[in-house]
Amino acid sequence: MARGCHERATQHATLTRAFVPHPHIPEAWVLSASGELEPPVTVVLTALHGNERCGLHAIRRSMERPEQLAARQLSGSVVLVHGNPRATEQGRRYTEGGTDINRLFSYEYVERLTPEAWVYEHHRALALRPLITGADALLDIHSASQPTPPFAICDGSPQAVELAAQTGFKVTHGWDGPGMLMDQVSIGSLVAQGKPALSVECGQHEAASTLEAAEQVLERFLVAVGAISGAPLQPSAEVFRLFARVVKPTHDFELARDFESFARLGPGEVLGSSPGLSLSVAREAFLVLPTPSAERGEDIVYLAERG
Ligand SMILES: [Zn+2]
Repeated sequence: MARGCHERATQHATLTRAFVPHPHIPEAWVLSASGELEPPVTVVLTALHGNERCGLHAIRRSMERPEQLAARQLSGSVVLVHGNPRATEQGRRYTEGGTDINRLFSYEYVERLTPEAWVYEHHRALALRPLITGADALLDIHSASQPTPPFAICDGSPQAVELAAQTGFKVTHGWDGPGMLMDQVSIGSLVAQGKPALSVECGQHEAASTLEAAEQVLERFLVAVGAISGAPLQPSAEVFRLFARVVKPTHDFELARDFESFARLGPGEVLGSSPGLSLSVAREAFLVLPTPSAERGEDIVYLAERG
């Protein structure tokens, strides 16, 4: 009798595979056949910017119903991560007095800054380092301050563009170009290693469609990298190549209109101005991630062309 109960319990345990806390990293959860961190490791990062909650919504949905992913898991581990929990608690992009964690992933600060000078984000980035640099595939989910259709962000390699198209969303590539900061962002390390890695902007922060897009991209990315079974999508054909990053030049510089992402400017049209300064585009440009709230010296918009 006792033995029969034990056998049933064992069988039950194998059928109800669940997310378990990562052994070393707080706010990260692992799904695998053994409950251990088995390779290949596919990481889904969310809310690196604390106020971008769509990715958190998507991973919470998955963790509420682990059997739905577990039944389709092909091999290895899926690791779901809340990137910047303290900033989320504070309802901010980064913690008060902190810094943008998505500029720390070159880990250059480990040599340059004494630990006494570190803020929360430096500690959190270091805790995430094994996942950020050692994963076999990485998806990083974001949302934007301005309205935007969902789009994927990747380097310019054909494999990356092909993977990004599997999201079914618009594709923007070339984020590894000169001056584009790829080495400092979450996906930079895997891009440098030639491994699959995407960031995805799912829409404006709190919109219902943004939450839905985050759920979709979580599912589609896991299928595309072979972490779970599923039918691949008809790939998106809307592909844009970044050709410029515009840094806000003065405190009083303002964009010419309340632009949405992928707004089109024709040759010679004004992008923005401040007293005594006007910036226009020399050729056709699609605006990516216009950020009117940017501070001087921060990125205010990126420019892209089709192709
Ligand atoms: Zn973000």
